[in-house]
Amino acid sequence: MVLKGPDTTSEKEQTKRFIRKNQDPYLIISRIKLWPSRKGILHGVRSVKREGNVMAVITHCSRKARVKCSKNGRLARWLRNKWYEKVCPYCRVPGWKLQKYSQTSFIKEKKYD
Ligand SMILES: [Zn+2]
Repeated sequence: MVLKGPDTTSEKEQTKRFIRKNQDPYLIISRIKLWPSRKGILHGVRSVKREGNVMAVITHCSRKARVKCSKNGRLARWLRNKWYEKVCPYCRVPGWKLQKYSQTSFIKEKKYD
């Protein structure tokens, strides 16, 4: 346990996460370790494996899913917009993880030209 100083602004900035908007959903999921199912339930991800154009997701509640890695697909859109109806009660997703997700900004890729 670390005692917190009076300056909390720098701490806030540290927890803020930036992910490029047009990133492959596989890379997003392997980073945030959360996966919104088609029914709108947000699961915690135990492992995610890439198999060509498809990724195999295993959640903490032992649910297995194979999802197409499409940058414009349902999953990528839901991740970017942080859409989900509820959090899976079996995955026991910790609060800090959800908070970090809500603080994640999806930004446009910088262009250096
Ligand atoms: Zn779950």
